[in-house]
Amino acid sequence: MKLDSELRFRILEKVGVYSARFSIPEPKILLTTKEVLEMPKEITQGRRTSAYKYLGVSYIQDNVVFLNVRKIQDDKMLENTIVHELIHMRFPYLSHGRRFNKMVRRGLAGWTFKPYAKRR
Ligand SMILES: [Zn+2]
Repeated sequence: MKLDSELRFRILEKVGVYSARFSIPEPKILLTTKEVLEMPKEITQGRRTSAYKYLGVSYIQDNVVFLNVRKIQDDKMLENTIVHELIHMRFPYLSHGRRFNKMVRRGLAGWTFKPYAKRR
């Protein structure tokens, strides 16, 4: 998709809506690989120069999400990617798999989630 101010606004709006539903603080959103490279290396280490390969990347520790708009082809893919990354933020203990995918489907279907309570 072509990143212009209208799309940037729509993305931030969607992120706001889903963050509220998932009871997570709104992450800082990066929309270009340039923005990824401009972040402090400690935050993006591991997925910095490789970020361009992915549709999205969650830097969970620092509450930062990269959405690779250049690689995202349409609104449906955008919605899926936003929800995928925000599910990582809400369920940091889940890795990719059936349970993770179930949460993504629920997120896309409009479910709300209670705040994540860290276990001691
Ligand atoms: Zn993922």
